[in-house]
Amino acid sequence: KLSRQITGLTGNGDDGWSLFSRARAMKAAGLPILELTIGEHDTGTDPAILDEMHRAARAGHTGYAAVPGIAPLRRAVAEHLGAATGRAFGPENVLITPGGQAALFAAHHAACDPGDHALLIDPYYATYPGTIRAVGAVPVAVPTRAEVGFQPEEARLAAAAEGATSLLINSPNNPTGAVYDEATLAGIARVAEAQDLWVISDEVYDSQVWQGRHVPFAALPGMADRTLTVGSLSKSHAMTGSRLGWVAGPPEAIERLITLATHTTYGVPGYIQEAALFALRSGPETAARVAAPFLRRRDMVLACLARQQVLSAIPPQGAMYVMLDVRRTGMTGRGFAEALLDAEHVAVMPGESFGSAAAGHVRVALTLPDPEFAEAIDRLFAFAVR
Ligand code: PLP
Repeated sequence: KLSRQITGLTGNGDDGWSLFSRARAMKAAGLPILELTIGEHDTGTDPAILDEMHRAARAGHTGYAAVPGIAPLRRAVAEHLGAATGRAFGPENVLITPGGQAALFAAHHAACDPGDHALLIDPYYATYPGTIRAVGAVPVAVPTRAEVGFQPEEARLAAAAEGATSLLINSPNNPTGAVYDEATLAGIARVAEAQDLWVISDEVYDSQVWQGRHVPFAALPGMADRTLTVGSLSKSHAMTGSRLGWVAGPPEAIERLITLATHTTYGVPGYIQEAALFALRSGPETAARVAAPFLRRRDMVLACLARQQVLSAIPPQGAMYVMLDVRRTGMTGRGFAEALLDAEHVAVMPGESFGSAAAGHVRVALTLPDPEFAEAIDRLFAFAVR
């Protein structure tokens, strides 16, 4: 018999993948589907990074690599975080993981025992509740409100935090695009201090900020010792398929996670790590080049919004999505997404996949080349106002 451990991960049984799978199946059957679903770039990895990957593989970095990550890459990530936070980070503060998703799993493993309450902010990245359940902890969602730009509110956090172990935050946020401001971050820090929480700060979109400023949570006074920062090159360097991320935090936590990695992933391929080192050393220009189209397409959506009154949105301050409020169409997010796919062959994600605070919304990923993107949003808005 198979265990029940995995079937329980998704809770309500569908975190949006059914629509995604349907869109992919329609595409495979030859229908011209315009996909604005998952957060994956329309461009590939920078050729110079690929050249380095190839060179490293040819040079023989194809065997087992050090489980915690190769020393120069751990140092480069530590330098990246040190510069961003003004705090001391060394290689002992960093574990290299196969992507941000594995880093999220590891961070919750370090913070939570089975049965512990683990807080997350709603709307959230669709895998979060399942990731928390995968370590045996209990996800507790704390909703945010559009009226305050989906910024987490201290009073709501404090009300949910009693007895909890960890708090997962994500700024710039998927799906809302909110970038947490200083007052929000200070409120989170007060709650974390008062309730002695680990803060797991998912900063995978840190290089994609259009308004405001990204403040790493570990930069806040007194917070570095209780923060596990999750990072990744998936979004910043269009390296989604290379599976390269990290957890950064206090050395005692990282030591434990090295033991976890020894018994699970056994590390990340050496040639991928060499390419990641090259990417980080190449400076912020590559990430800025990757980010630029998302700002342009975000502004294309805002221009469409300004021409009608049915759909609305809080302008995203970062990341690679726009979350549209579709409630004035009379449809749910899922109903809108399903009908749009059938009527217009445009695929977007139902807001309901991202938590109850995203119900009545759809998430549009800014991930098609400009001409196709323009066509897709033209069809989406025409469908909505029909
Ligand atoms: N965190 C957030 C908020 C995301 O949106 C994603 C991917 O979409 C991830 C983490 C995981 O990214 P990866 O595992 O590719 O690094």
